[in-house]
Amino acid sequence: MSQRAKHPTRNAVVALAAAGMGVTAVFGAGASAVAAEAQAPLAMDTAAAVTAQAQAQTAKAAQAKAVKAAAVKAAAAKKAAKAVGWIKPVTGYTLTAGYNQGGAMWTNKHSGQDFAVPVGTLVKAVHGGTVVKAGPNGGGDGPAYGNAIVIKHANGTYSQYAHLSKINVKIGSKVKTGQLIARSGNTGNSSGPHLHFEIRTTPNYGSSVNPASFLRAEGVFI
Ligand SMILES: [Zn+2]
Repeated sequence: MSQRAKHPTRNAVVALAAAGMGVTAVFGAGASAVAAEAQAPLAMDTAAAVTAQAQAQTAKAAQAKAVKAAAVKAAAAKKAAKAVGWIKPVTGYTLTAGYNQGGAMWTNKHSGQDFAVPVGTLVKAVHGGTVVKAGPNGGGDGPAYGNAIVIKHANGTYSQYAHLSKINVKIGSKVKTGQLIARSGNTGNSSGPHLHFEIRTTPNYGSSVNPASFLRAEGVFI
């Protein structure tokens, strides 16, 4: 609708307000308000009352509907919370270097799984937990990791995310499964934009296990 076309309605509402109509009748009156204005002055009160009654009933019905929808939503959320296990740290990736793979990039065997993704890709917590490392220099594990995060999970497992371009959490942050924790990048010893992901048995480098196998055991197939 053009600005010009809106004006007749607005004028009608102003006219009704000037005629001493209640706020309820004026609010959202739209087409019926225009119709009411066309009536004789005596009929206007009746028309306004009819409109107000209709609006009150519509509002009541909408309220009842909203309460019911909220209850359904709460039940669904409860069900979803129970089902949440582990997830993938990124989506839209290409698997590149796998766990234990040898190569010029690593002094030892590759300690994680690489997910090639464009810089800036959302990185999510694979499971709920508490952030124990977050920052440059691999969060303390060494410059090869670039910006990195380590999260401690309730089952004594740790997940690590490296080569990040942006970190959205701090040490001590509590995170939920699937929560955005960082943006992927190409920092540290990285041959191209990707997320380096580890599953560890301690917070520190050197305690990694095969992340693909670990996730598979949790029902997540990368
Ligand atoms: Zn890697």
